[in-house]
Amino acid sequence: MKGIKYSVVVAAYNEEESLPLFFSKVVPLFETLGETFEIIITNDGSSDGTEDILAQRCAADKRVKGINFSRNFGQQAALLAGLKESRGDAVIVMDADLQDPPEVALEMIEKYKEGYDIVHGRRKKRPGESVFKKVTARLYYKFIHRISNPKVPENVGDFKLYSRRAVDAILSLPERNRLIRAQAAWVGFRQTFVEFDRPARAVGETKYTLKKMVKLASDGIISNSYYPLYLALKAGILLGVLSAAAFLTFIILAICGVYLPLAAWLFPTVTLLFAIHLTIKGLTDIYTARIYDEVKNRPVYVIKDKFNSNEDD
Ligand code: UDP
Ligand code: MG
Repeated sequence: MKGIKYSVVVAAYNEEESLPLFFSKVVPLFETLGETFEIIITNDGSSDGTEDILAQRCAADKRVKGINFSRNFGQQAALLAGLKESRGDAVIVMDADLQDPPEVALEMIEKYKEGYDIVHGRRKKRPGESVFKKVTARLYYKFIHRISNPKVPENVGDFKLYSRRAVDAILSLPERNRLIRAQAAWVGFRQTFVEFDRPARAVGETKYTLKKMVKLASDGIISNSYYPLYLALKAGILLGVLSAAAFLTFIILAICGVYLPLAAWLFPTVTLLFAIHLTIKGLTDIYTARIYDEVKNRPVYVIKDKFNSNEDD
């Protein structure tokens, strides 16, 4: 059997209104490419008619594949299941609600043909979204971009194309709490962007509650940066320097004959003690970071390709 060229991977939670529209747009679009393709939908424990719609569609069209979760595990888990199931040479991840315009996937495929392994969809404008969502998303992207290493690109969500080897690299990361878009930055390879304006949802309401957004945001920060763990150390050192400066000033004042009550000396003494405490806590946090790194158990490197490898023999 000929292999599959393109896989479309989608997470769907209570998307009974979106799915028919999604299929009616995406299937004809991929048919125009004249290549084999599959569409993998993970139903993330929906409580509406998503499961029935998916079952009907899968029965009618073998190119559509469905995975039903036993309950709501979250979009990242649903995408992970879809990536694991996918067999395409290239995989396009998109939302079910058509906020990731399917035509943009064609531009991503062009970039893939040029030899890119990861093509990020970068949002230029988000006209269909609330001011709250726009502001929090922008701030979050800026923050995670600043603290992550390697850098997670700004204004980029999960709408991406991955080459097979990029998908395999992501699947080789065993951690439980993932932000796939941050892992995409980590795995390397040749990466590029296509820009798009993010429209409003075709139908229905956002499935991302504030609680889910906070979990996604914190997973992204905690899994991809030790920045929070270094805060105590940085604060400790800064406070230590300030306390030492205060001591020095007091000593100079005393030498110059300025009378300082005993209580005044208490202030830098207390802050210095606190600074010592924070610094020691910061040092133990560095060990925690190391332990976390070991427990996360990411591969130490990802190989792009090899020349004259012994494995070829
Ligand atoms: N989604 C999911 N599980 C969830 C929440 C959302 O699979 O618990 C899916 C949802 O069906 C959609 C995608 O994740 O395909 C993005 O969700 P949504 O459009 O609600 O988020 P927004 O675009 O508002 O950030
Ligand atoms: Mg959406």
